[in-house]
Amino acid sequence: MKEYEIVIGLEVHVELLTSSKLFCSCSTKFGASPNSQICPICAGLPGILPVINQKAVELGLKTAIALNFKISPCSRFSRKHYFYPDLPKNYQISQHREPLATEGAIWVDNRNIRINSIHLEEDVGKLIHSEGNTSFSLVDLNRSGVPLIEIVTEPDIRSSLEAEKLLITLKRILEYLEVSDCNMEEGSLRCDANISVRKRGDAILGVKVEIKNMNSFKMIRKALDYEARRQVFCLKEGGTLKQETRLWNEKLQITEEMRAKEETQDNFSFLDPDLPPLVFDKKIIEEIAAQVGEMPIQRKERFIKDYMLSEYDAEVLTSKKDIADYFEKCIEKGCKAKAITNWIMGPLIALLKLEKKGIALSPITPEYLVQIVSMVEQNKITGVVAKTVLQESFDTGVSPEEIVSKKNLLQIESDETISGVVKEVIADNPEAVKDYQEGKEQALSFLIGQIMRKTKGKANPNTVKSKLQEYLNK
Ligand code: ADP
Ligand code: ZN
Ligand code: MG
Repeated sequence: MKEYEIVIGLEVHVELLTSSKLFCSCSTKFGASPNSQICPICAGLPGILPVINQKAVELGLKTAIALNFKISPCSRFSRKHYFYPDLPKNYQISQHREPLATEGAIWVDNRNIRINSIHLEEDVGKLIHSEGNTSFSLVDLNRSGVPLIEIVTEPDIRSSLEAEKLLITLKRILEYLEVSDCNMEEGSLRCDANISVRKRGDAILGVKVEIKNMNSFKMIRKALDYEARRQVFCLKEGGTLKQETRLWNEKLQITEEMRAKEETQDNFSFLDPDLPPLVFDKKIIEEIAAQVGEMPIQRKERFIKDYMLSEYDAEVLTSKKDIADYFEKCIEKGCKAKAITNWIMGPLIALLKLEKKGIALSPITPEYLVQIVSMVEQNKITGVVAKTVLQESFDTGVSPEEIVSKKNLLQIESDETISGVVKEVIADNPEAVKDYQEGKEQALSFLIGQIMRKTKGKANPNTVKSKLQEYLNK
């Protein structure tokens, strides 16, 4: 493999977060019953004219501005003609010929990857294939007409890992921009990958193969790795590669031939006479630019600088906008950055994962988490109690302060009370005491555990340890 260089370019389709479709007012909501969200326009019936969705154009512009694209002075929609049952109009309306914006870039691992263009287009319907003896297919047009942007990179990517990093970075940016939810399971983010190999040092690119049918980043990496090996193997054997489209077969973990390269689509495409060109004045661009806001990389750097977080902590906290927002709300309420970071990245995210909830819908609001952290910092409750309070507040929605006061969970500070329990535990566990005196350190942890159990985790752990050692060494 070493003598060969891998060259990859990606074509990413992203469903925009609009409530209605690109050319009609039908809903874009995912998961509705088949064909319940269609009208003559998105079902391809003649006689009604499409009207462009302003919000979709704005989201496209927002993405273009955030990725430093040149906005085209005039972009137009064409009809890409082809026949397929999920496309009843027999043409797809797309700006592929005259894209919204060109020459953008995305910064991945200290390297700029050029992006050729970004354009708006409509999604097509979905075919549902029957399984079993009678074979037939059903058509669901709910997705037909859903607004998409297609982002096409230049062939600047040099490994499957780099392709994955680019996609993670792009997804994060699109989520920050609130342009798309990028939910791959629901198909809001889809990616076709083009790959070729060439001898290192060769000036011209090799013959490219397009791979489709991957619906997770992991599958994309596996498909690219497989395909690179297949191509290198073929060339080493003295074979030639042909330009084609291949499908990833997840079951067999291979790519399979789907079709030879189709005629270039430009041959079947005509300007759409029903839609006017898009021309933006400076004011609109400026207004949208003002909505772009802070991007993930900038936010991460600011977190490191302003809150003295480690690179790793800042990376995790800014990986999603809602986590970063949550963190900053806690800080605003006067919490120390390091303490709040540990609580968010540890127990809180674990609980949310278990319940499959996003942090924005967390029953533990920033206010609640700050209550917990403050009570721990002020030694009002122990760490052990804090964890159970977090769980209870998460389950019931009752505020941590209320739980602590109602259940009498304040930390036990009194030397006398703690000494009493220590003596009891020593009397009840002669074997452990003997073990400790014979030098077995674990015996100490066991005894501390017993004391914490008796006090329901409420005893000041430092006092417990020192009292216990004091009595044991007597
Ligand atoms: P097509 O005419 O087949 O649509 P494009 O030149 O528009 O081809 O490129 C489509 C995608 O394929 C882009 O993402 C581009 O970066 C990528 N690509 C083009 N040529 C190669 C190549 N030789 N190897 C890998 N990727 C390529
Ligand atoms: Zn419609
Ligand atoms: Mg092309």
